[in-house]
Order: sequence, then structure tokens, then C-alpha cells
Amino acid sequence: MTIETNLTADPFEMAECPACPGVPSRVWLDGGDGTCYVRCISCGTIYASPRASHASRYAWLDERFSVGENAFQNAQARQPALEQIAGILKTYVTRGALLDIGCDLGHFFEYFQGAFWKRFGVELSPSAADYASKTFDASVHAGAIADVPFSNAFFDLVTMLDMFYHLENPRGDLETVARIIKPGGYLAVEVSGLSYYLLRSIGIISLLVDRKWTRLDSNSVYLFYFTPGGLRKLIEECGFEVVSASVINSPVSSKPLRDMISAGYGSLMRFLSRVSLYWLNWAPKYLLVARRKKEP
Ligand SMILES: [Zn+2]
Repeated sequence: MTIETNLTADPFEMAECPACPGVPSRVWLDGGDGTCYVRCISCGTIYASPRASHASRYAWLDERFSVGENAFQNAQARQPALEQIAGILKTYVTRGALLDIGCDLGHFFEYFQGAFWKRFGVELSPSAADYASKTFDASVHAGAIADVPFSNAFFDLVTMLDMFYHLENPRGDLETVARIIKPGGYLAVEVSGLSYYLLRSIGIISLLVDRKWTRLDSNSVYLFYFTPGGLRKLIEECGFEVVSASVINSPVSSKPLRDMISAGYGSLMRFLSRVSLYWLNWAPKYLLVARRKKEP
């Protein structure tokens, strides 16, 4: 009797901590389906390894992020955060070429209108890229950043907002950004605070809000959850100097009580993160702004 193997199944991929290549990790959450989340023993970043194949992840991405009611609702909920981030970035850069990587429907471009700005985007979902391009007079490429032949030292400002979890090679993509950004230009990366995200995603809060004990899934499009220290190390090793860290407003919902609690919690984290950057771990979202070093 022969044992048949399923040759059509996608193979899993292995990954390593982008901030600490070669450093071992420990299994942190076993997905039970061949995928796991592991934790870097050096910087504490949690990442999927083994993870689902490129092909199956990209199928999910298009399903989740293409133009539709869900995407418009998310964009509307994110407006206060995008406005806040634009305000922070304009204290560093007031004109030039902006590239928003993972630009979604392009709503961030609303804050960079006028003759002083040239707007560029990269977006995996072709329908979202098309919408962003037509709606906001921007040049938006459908695909991944590594696939777009941008010129060296072209951009004054590059943003990667609430999308860093999905990159399959964050170090490689930051090296690409370091190449296409001008020396002295700025990069902004927004992610969730890791401790906040875990508190929100496992246990009683997840049960109350999402009606399940955990919403984490190692077989998903969420590949990396960085610690602030791991993210900073990675950005700096790719040729940047981190110049500021800010707690970012949570998305707004249609529930006034929930919004009031999130606003109060955000203010508390804003205060505490001025005392110590450790508290960024507990922020719902935070933004690191980094300047491209003039010398490699
Ligand atoms: Zn690490």
C-alpha cells in the first residue's frame, strides 16, 4: 500500500526575525495547522514561521483589501489618525515627492494636495490602486514595493502606515526604501503596540468584542508583530536615524462610549510614552519617524 501525498498543497515558508537575522526564536503560539507564531529571543518580535505560502497569502490580501464597503468603512474610521500623522510629518517635510506604500484607497493623499506635492503610491490590491490613482490624482502602482522600478534618491517622504505586519521581507523592503529616498529625506512607519495588541487579541477583551478567545491566527496575512526596540533596530540598520515616536489616534467607531474610552486611553499612553518609550508597547498605534542618513 502506498501513502499518497498531497502534491497540490502549498508549501509553508520559514522566516527569521528581520531585526536580528540568525538569532533563534521560541514557539509562542502553535496554530495547529503547520503554521506557528514564534518569538525572537533577542528583541521579542513575534513573527509567523512556518507561515502560509506567498500564493495563499496574496489571495487573502486581495480578498481583504480590494475596493468595497469594508475598505470604505476602514478608511473613514482611520481619517483622524491619517490627519494626525500628516500633521506630524509636515513638521519635517513641507513639499516634494511623497510615496505611500500600502496606500489602500489613497485617503492619506487628501492631506498632501496642491502644487507643492507629487503623490505616489504602491498598493497590492489592483482595484484599490486604481481607485486611489483616479480619486486623488496620484501615480499608484499595483503590486509590491520591490517590483516597482523607482529611481534612486527620488522621494522626500515615504510612509508605511498600518501595513508593516503584512510585508514578507521587511528588511529587504526597508533597504529598497533607503535606496529610493533622498539622503536627509524622511520615512514614517506606523504599527500597533505589541503588548496592547496581545491584550486586545487574546482573552476576555477578544471574547467581549469579537466573541472568540483569540483573534490571532498564525495562518493569516499578519506576519510580523514588532516590539518598539526591534522595529527601531531594523529601521536604523537599514540606513535611517529615528527622530521621533508618537502615539496615534485609534480608529473611530459608531459607538460613542467605546470612542471615549479609546481617546482617554490614547491620551494616557501619549503622556506615559513621553516618560519612557517602553510605553509605546501599550499604545494602540504608534508612529516612528526616521531620517535617511546622508552617509551610508
Ligand atoms: Zn529580533
